[in-house]
Amino acid sequence: MRTDFEQVVTRHDPDTGLDAVIAVHDTTRGPAIGGVRVLPYRDRAAALDDAMRLARAMTRKTAAAGLRLGGGKSVVIAEAATPELMRAHGRFIRSLEGRYIPGIDVGTGAAEMRQIAAEATIVTCQEGDPSWLTALGAFCGIEAAVAHVHGTSIAGRTVVVQGVGHVGHHLARMLVKAGANVLVSDVAPGRADALAGEIGATAIDPVTALARECDVLAPCALGGVVDDATVDGLRCGIVAGPANNVLAHDDLAGVLAGRGVTFVPDFIMSAGGITFLDEQLAGGDEESAIPRVRAIGPRVAGLLADAAVRGVTPLEAAEDLAAANLKSDVRRTTIEA
Ligand code: NAD
Repeated sequence: MRTDFEQVVTRHDPDTGLDAVIAVHDTTRGPAIGGVRVLPYRDRAAALDDAMRLARAMTRKTAAAGLRLGGGKSVVIAEAATPELMRAHGRFIRSLEGRYIPGIDVGTGAAEMRQIAAEATIVTCQEGDPSWLTALGAFCGIEAAVAHVHGTSIAGRTVVVQGVGHVGHHLARMLVKAGANVLVSDVAPGRADALAGEIGATAIDPVTALARECDVLAPCALGGVVDDATVDGLRCGIVAGPANNVLAHDDLAGVLAGRGVTFVPDFIMSAGGITFLDEQLAGGDEESAIPRVRAIGPRVAGLLADAAVRGVTPLEAAEDLAAANLKSDVRRTTIEA
């Protein structure tokens, strides 16, 4: 079978019960970074599929952001992470000699990263939560998209934030502070109301949130919210949010463009957190990461201008940026396993 993956490794360890996959998609720009997902996949094939799909998406995200990292992912087939499983996974990761760098994902958090770090050398997300930097990047992307479409700031613009979890609640705060009229929604009972009351936003029904009339729809919940069924009901001028895989399939980028809706690809919008990890791996901190995260704004402005000039969708322009960055020789040489 032909594949564009550099390395895909599986491990079944009868002693610990570890059943895991590590997918290293592309290390042209540096070691492959990607979260550790722990899920009770129905079988190894489903786990392999998920790891490979997610690793490929990480290459696109890291390359488009100009990071000195590549794309990877690992998945552990289990009901839940345990310290023993995470240590065993850490040994599996160590066997790749630094080509794969783990971070958090569904089913893992800082505690699991510390368990992995007991066995593997380079492990991100062991403390703190970089979600606010993901939100900052998304905020800058929204500012740039509004400036491109309207030639104004976001003050007075109406923004729907769908999902006010780790990223969404920070984003809503930043938007309110910038003077936007912010509508927040969440399926978790009371979550949107509590936040709205605290920051001066308006809570709206999550069932109708996608169809609310607004300037910007910022998806911050699950992927695939814009699909063949929902696309016709959208009443926004811009779709720009950090939720991974906002479009159920790529053809919807053309559908949105045809309807005059500006879509900013999520892999550009959501790069703030990973940009911080890139900075941290190079010895920096949140402070030094902030200007690099804010650069998402000019990047979005450049992509939207480029798409307009070339008559392509912003998604195509962003894919081209990632592809061009994969050709440039910026391999990081300073990370040692
Ligand atoms: P989270 O789980 O903390 O928050 C998601 C929120 O969305 C929850 O409050 C949940 O109740 C809500 N939600 C789920 N379905 C909803 C719906 N239909 N309508 C309204 N609300 C709904 O997740 P997060 O860490 O904030 O991540 C949000 C998105 O951003 C995800 O797609 C994630 O993959 C992506 N992302 C996050 C980061 C990060 O730094 N956390 C980085 C890159 C991308």
